[in-house]
Amino acid sequence: MLSTTVVHRCPLYGGERLQKNGHTQRGAQRALCLECGRTFTLSPKGPRYGQKFKAQVVAAYQDRMSTRGIRRPFGVCHQALMVWVGEKVVILPGYSGFPKG
Ligand SMILES: [Zn+2]
Repeated sequence: MLSTTVVHRCPLYGGERLQKNGHTQRGAQRALCLECGRTFTLSPKGPRYGQKFKAQVVAAYQDRMSTRGIRRPFGVCHQALMVWVGEKVVILPGYSGFPKG
């Protein structure tokens, strides 16, 4: 049998006097530092959505699917969608005005 022991410390001052303090919405254990009062997640879970899923949702938006139409099948709110679209958009060079003539 192989076992490992993990010692958690407060990320702020490194205190070891910790107390369980509920769970996050996604089920990760929260802790309270009894020395400084800071609360934190012991082992944060990774990102909720993978890159492949994000690309799929942004592709649906680029195919002119409405933001609220995307929410129904994918379960992604329109604010998150706009952040993902913003990450993908290439910044255009500066506009220099209309051509003369
Ligand atoms: Zn602390």
